[in-house]
Amino acid sequence: MFDKILIANRGEIALRIQRACKELGIATVAVHSTTDADAMHVKLADEAVCIGPPQATESYLNIPHILSACEITNADAVHPGYGFLSENARFAEILEEHSITFIGPTSEHIRLMGDKIQAKETVKQLGLPVVPGSDGAVRSDAKARKIAEEIGYPILVKAAAGGGGRGMKVAETPAALSSAISTARAESKSAFGDDTMYMEKYLTLPRHIEIQVIGDGRGDAVHLGERDCSLQRRHQKIWEEAPSPALNDEQRDRIGETVASAMRKISYRGVGTVEFLYENGEFYFIEMNTRLQVEHPVTEMITGIDLVIEQIRIASGGGLSFAQDDIVFNGHAIECRINAENPETLMPSPGKITQYHPPGGLGVRVDSGAYAGYTIPPYYDSLTGKLIVHARNRNECLMRLRRALSEFVIDGIDTTIPLFTRLLGEPDIANGIYNIHWLENYLDKS
Ligand code: ADP
Repeated sequence: MFDKILIANRGEIALRIQRACKELGIATVAVHSTTDADAMHVKLADEAVCIGPPQATESYLNIPHILSACEITNADAVHPGYGFLSENARFAEILEEHSITFIGPTSEHIRLMGDKIQAKETVKQLGLPVVPGSDGAVRSDAKARKIAEEIGYPILVKAAAGGGGRGMKVAETPAALSSAISTARAESKSAFGDDTMYMEKYLTLPRHIEIQVIGDGRGDAVHLGERDCSLQRRHQKIWEEAPSPALNDEQRDRIGETVASAMRKISYRGVGTVEFLYENGEFYFIEMNTRLQVEHPVTEMITGIDLVIEQIRIASGGGLSFAQDDIVFNGHAIECRINAENPETLMPSPGKITQYHPPGGLGVRVDSGAYAGYTIPPYYDSLTGKLIVHARNRNECLMRLRRALSEFVIDGIDTTIPLFTRLLGEPDIANGIYNIHWLENYLDKS
């Protein structure tokens, strides 16, 4: 087992990882930008190293500085969290070259799944169902038109290097195709430095359902069920739940086993999430994330398995501590992303938190680095914390969520708490009847 882990991240996820390290008796090193000197992840770590100015490119994405922090503190492993360097294959390689363990999959798997075209081709060969689309990259408008005619409109133009919903454009008609391609290309070029595009059939009423997997890197892998992340705004998730209100046990077992079997074939190491769109009873692969996800706690709540502890165990050479049959799904869990945003316009609202009181009680978990007096800096994403509620079934979970939201006090900034309270009053949410466009339509109407 490791003696000391450096956590190359900030905010709630850095704290989350520290908690797992503490339970395992592993010392922690926090890294931080100058603006984060007072952040909770810095206060609670055993050691902390400042790695640069506020801009992420100069600090949390600065590989030489993170490497120096590892050397100064003698850390033997790095946990990247999510975002930042978590899916940077080169970072994983550089660490290994310096005999520091990267807590995650192999750099080959990160690279493979990071290129969405390659990922799609690979999983297709591994037996996963994919969205109908172009075979690989689409280089010319003429070719794009031809493929679009074959697949049928509406068409979604997507960036091979895409992430966070960027570099994606819908073309409803042939006339709109060229401009969708050029807009998506420009967006992808500026966000990812790459403008390779591919095309998919645009599914009009799907749910987003993803499967959590975990592999030992030696050919064993199991699934931990699904999460339904259909409530999204601009392709960003805000509410995630498990199990999905749309699946029954048989469907879950079938897709879960299909994914686990694919992961066994490639000897996948660590945790990963295979994302699908689900429409009319069919699953369509969209991408695989080779890291811990923001919404991992809902899976933890219904399985009782600490995914970060498992990640650390596997990275240190241990096998899986359970088999598929040991995994029991218990009750229902919902996560709400508490963002520092205006609940109506959803514009970021950084600033000083004057009062902070998180909810508690049975089945309530808050993962957050916020505290009274803390100032949320404007440089990073607006996720301030996550409220996760667990209960015996979905109805009880909704009741508990309403109660927990009503207790939650965060003053001084705007947050998405009032939005979730409003959503709980919507019959579609209460009945679990929603798809990936539901929230956008709802926000447009209100
Ligand atoms: P990113 O890596 O940018 O998050 P994804 O491929 O995971 O991109 O897609 C993000 C979201 O975009 C999905 O959750 C879904 O809402 C929407 N989306 C992606 N592909 C399609 C598609 N073929 N049809 C309809 N919606 C899609």
